[in-house]
Amino acid sequence: MRRRRTAAATLVAILAAATLGCTDGDRSVAAGGAESADLVITNATVVTMDADFRVIEGGAIAIAGSRIAAVGGAEVATRYAAKETIDAGGDIVMPGMVNTHTHASMTMFRGLGDDIPDRLRRFIFPLEAMVVDADNVYKGALLGAVEMVLSGATTFVDMYYFEDAVARAAKAVGMRAVVGETVIGFPAPDADEAYGGLAYARRFIAEWADDELVTPALAPHAPYTLDKEHLEEVAVAARELDVPVLVHLSETQAEIDKIDEEFGMSPVEYLDSVGLLDDRLVAAHCIFVDADDIELLRERRVGVSHNIVSNVKAGKGIAPVLEMLAAGLDVGLGTDGPMSGNTLDLMGLLGYTAKLHKLAKLDRRVMPARDVVMMATIGGARAIDMDDRIGSLEAGKLADLVIVDKDSVNMIPMYDVYAALAYAASSHDVRTVIIHGRQVMRDRRMLTVDVEQIKRDVRVLTDRIAEEAAKL
Ligand SMILES: [Zn+2]
Repeated sequence: MRRRRTAAATLVAILAAATLGCTDGDRSVAAGGAESADLVITNATVVTMDADFRVIEGGAIAIAGSRIAAVGGAEVATRYAAKETIDAGGDIVMPGMVNTHTHASMTMFRGLGDDIPDRLRRFIFPLEAMVVDADNVYKGALLGAVEMVLSGATTFVDMYYFEDAVARAAKAVGMRAVVGETVIGFPAPDADEAYGGLAYARRFIAEWADDELVTPALAPHAPYTLDKEHLEEVAVAARELDVPVLVHLSETQAEIDKIDEEFGMSPVEYLDSVGLLDDRLVAAHCIFVDADDIELLRERRVGVSHNIVSNVKAGKGIAPVLEMLAAGLDVGLGTDGPMSGNTLDLMGLLGYTAKLHKLAKLDRRVMPARDVVMMATIGGARAIDMDDRIGSLEAGKLADLVIVDKDSVNMIPMYDVYAALAYAASSHDVRTVIIHGRQVMRDRRMLTVDVEQIKRDVRVLTDRIAEEAAKL
């Protein structure tokens, strides 16, 4: 289901032609010869992230229904009679960002047990067993999704329990999401038996199969938390159900040692041996991968999610992303869960990503600003194999885009738009967010959900979690 690059490009061209030719019934020619659109954004600095990295000053974008009808100069605005026009006043319009690895519901645990060793097994798993249910997953995911929209993400890729609740939260907020139900080798909050997540996932995948915003997925937790037989079972199920697979991979030295001891392979080779290493896989972290692993990941067309802020905070290491990009791997950026990365702010980690790679190589030239903006947008879309639909601003693609304030004090002057986005912008500069053609946030105000109510609900819930955590 992934990597139909040529076919994808063709699809975009066909959709663009259909839209421009007004033949799809979605749009019509308005009086006076102008074509009709639902929304036209004018007077924008359009950062397209297309194949030529076009940046259009004084540009305009026309949106019809859920799709981008046209992207170009000021003439686009004159060609369309729009129901609504947004004058961007010179602000940046860029593709909505793709957060390729999150556990959005874990906002409910943000800041708990930070800085303690072996936190996953000693703290997180027992705490989850005590408090996680569908209701608090929903509430936590609502808060997480709002945080992501506020910081310019329009798509997130999630792994957790009760993913049906995460899917419902994404829909309520109006975000696009790939939601992977966790399969793990011990009883989990939503499964009394080990590997019960697989049965949950089958139900959940059937329910969400054709949703326009939500793509259901399978999420085997990691090579070391499932046995070989069940990893193979997940691989077979993924092909049968035709869904993406999300996994944590090559994240710690302990994982490398364990898989080497048991199977005499690297975790990447091991996942290949169980049939999981293919183009539907999105592998988070990939910190401890060598040149052979990178070559294998490339051959199998695996998408990689790079979570540097979370990885550095945990003292794990820095994934060799420069080498991955040089090898032609599709790499996107992720925040990881808010218990690991503490925020879901993708805009906030662009600069860190560039700077930490420069520091690691003692070379200011590596990982230039445009590369991190690329990974946050079209790179992330490629990593999750949705680049035929999202990740760049091109006619025919889905209208997922954000408007970033060029008038903020920290954004003046702007000699280089990529440097401004990567090194100077903060999430607070994200003003307006459009997903699937719908305005989800306008001028910093969420239009889809009651943020104050979400905050109140999470506070009630987390008062209880604090009591439980004190017992651990
Ligand atoms: Zn994770």
